[in-house]
Amino acid sequence: MGAHLSISGGLSKTIEEAFRLGLSTIQFFSRNPRSLRSAKRSEPISIPFNIFFLHGPYLLNLASYNEIYDLSKKALLEDLLWGESLGATGIVVHPGSHKGSGVRNGISRIVMALEEIINKSNTRCKIILENTSGAGAQLGASPEEFKAIIDSISDKTRLGICIDTCHLFSAGFDIRNTDGIRETFDRWFSLLDTSYLILFHANDSKGKLGSRLDRHTHIGEGEIGEEGFKSLFNFEIFRTRPIIIETPKNPPGSDEKNIYKLRELGSLL
Ligand SMILES: [Zn+2]
Repeated sequence: MGAHLSISGGLSKTIEEAFRLGLSTIQFFSRNPRSLRSAKRSEPISIPFNIFFLHGPYLLNLASYNEIYDLSKKALLEDLLWGESLGATGIVVHPGSHKGSGVRNGISRIVMALEEIINKSNTRCKIILENTSGAGAQLGASPEEFKAIIDSISDKTRLGICIDTCHLFSAGFDIRNTDGIRETFDRWFSLLDTSYLILFHANDSKGKLGSRLDRHTHIGEGEIGEEGFKSLFNFEIFRTRPIIIETPKNPPGSDEKNIYKLRELGSLL
């Protein structure tokens, strides 16, 4: 169980915070999340977790067709190599937005970008594609789109999948109870081998089912609710993957509370 933590005070502060929270894994931004150009790196330090993740910047768009495309490829390659030097398990990125050019075109842009980055590097650090809520022209809200991407990549060992519970729910997958979760996982993993699934992001959802609204909230306080998270723990696939919270940091003490709540719902206390 882990949390997305800030690295604004330096990585050693991040690790202190992780220990204070009693976490066994962490995730942090690979650079300023709102910039593709500047990447000020702290000194590479040893991270005392076997499994941990970077998260790519929000502006990254591997499906774009303007100057953002080249900047995105460059930024992801740099961040992937930085992740490798730190020993990260993977870097989590959103597949991208086709911005009106169409799903097929968007997917082929993503595939081209990933192939290029994979060919220019040789990392154990995986590129982990995260499911999205599918707002606007955002790709990656359905298992079919993930399959279309993965099927076209030559070295599939370099890729992974991250499933975010909030995005899943706002994309229309009803994970509020065991039956809904079973149906959801059956749909995703009849198309995708479970070996691709590297981690979960556990976030409750402010948006309603199918609202396409990407708004994370505290565990048990959103539309998924305690019953949903409790039911997720009935599934081996959920219990056997790292779980990272990306829930609001306010009020202070929220990370402690959300981690505790998840452990409680999973009978892990
Ligand atoms: Zn997420």
